[in-house]
Amino acid sequence: MSSPNPQNISQPKKRIIFMDSTLRDGEQAPGAAMTHAQKLEIAQKLAEMGVDVIEAGFAASSPEDWCSVREIAEKVASEKTKICALARCNPKDIQSAATAIAPAISKNAGRIHVFVATSDKHIATKLGKTRAEVLEMIDKGVRYARGFCKDIEFSAEDAFNSDRAFLAECVKTAVEAGATTINLPDTIGEAVHFQYYEFIKEIIARANVSKEIVFSVHCHNDKGLATANSLFGLSAGACQAECCMNGIGERAGNAALEEIAMAIQSSPNVYPFEFQLDTHKIKEVSELVEKYTGFRVPNCKPIVGKTAYSHGSGIHQDGVIKAWETGVSCIYGAVNPKEAGYTEQIVITRHSGIRAAAYILKQQGIIATPEQARHVLDMAKTSGKKIISPAMMKAIYEQQYLKTKYPQKIVSNMPYSRVTTKLQAMREHTKS
Ligand SMILES: [Zn+2]
Repeated sequence: MSSPNPQNISQPKKRIIFMDSTLRDGEQAPGAAMTHAQKLEIAQKLAEMGVDVIEAGFAASSPEDWCSVREIAEKVASEKTKICALARCNPKDIQSAATAIAPAISKNAGRIHVFVATSDKHIATKLGKTRAEVLEMIDKGVRYARGFCKDIEFSAEDAFNSDRAFLAECVKTAVEAGATTINLPDTIGEAVHFQYYEFIKEIIARANVSKEIVFSVHCHNDKGLATANSLFGLSAGACQAECCMNGIGERAGNAALEEIAMAIQSSPNVYPFEFQLDTHKIKEVSELVEKYTGFRVPNCKPIVGKTAYSHGSGIHQDGVIKAWETGVSCIYGAVNPKEAGYTEQIVITRHSGIRAAAYILKQQGIIATPEQARHVLDMAKTSGKKIISPAMMKAIYEQQYLKTKYPQKIVSNMPYSRVTTKLQAMREHTKS
């Protein structure tokens, strides 16, 4: 097994197609269902961000889904953003997908995505068919879809667990029937990054189809490897990444769009890729998806977590502020927050230091001496709050140094019980 270190892979710069499935695979996460209007708004934002293909839904799954896909196809499809609908490999599903995206097809901006399982386990247990019957389904299904639309994606469900010779045969059959994109998913989130790399490489080589055919990666995050696997798959020769905003999706979710995009953007020497996404809009879209799905983004989630660019500990804060003073940003952090629509922040916690306290006070219009900053910080830390707001820092300073009810030397000598009583009063004041 060769080492799939991406740094050793020499490739020409290639264009990556982002296919966002937030509205289809993402919405399949239990409890993530969105309304028709919410899905349309998200689709519009994804298009504004520059997503190449929006998988808008599984049209045959319900009349509501069909209507939702239809409206997105009418209002969002453009030269820059295609609208895609999912269909099983049967005429009824394909017809439903085709009619739903008809407005997009008429603008040459529609895609039908047909899929069938190709692993022996799925063929036997789920489909109850033979390999030969699956090949026939692929041939008939893709040809039928091609009758409606020139842009056809074929997905081999559970591809990673499929017999590789048979999978290559499925790929050839789909391409001969008219498929233009071939998706090789790790449907159950089983692969480890180097295995997925070799898998993609091997299937592309075995299938040996025209260079015009786009291979696609689609990874699930059951082991926390969806982003890594997607990047390894792209390095192995795939050109399309299927992903969801905030990494939502079935079980532990899909690969996160923002993670794949920012990993590429911030590691250009490792990933010689380009894309049309405007990453500056990531924050806006992430917050919209969080709001409408109700799936709260964890604070420490890469790229879009609330604390992903915050510094709370004194040592880091000291370094970050010194660097800012010399015009340098992100000395602690591998991703430039501005590129994803965020800002680097200093947050006062009980781990914070004097430099951060002085910095926060300065932001509040207060030039504090180091001694004052230390004193305010010490007082703030006794409040018991996990995060001390700039307003509270300001209130403590004013209480101590402007409203001279308690001269500094008295406050400094104040018994602990009186300090906490005073801070309790201040907390009540800042709450209101
Ligand atoms: Zn999936």
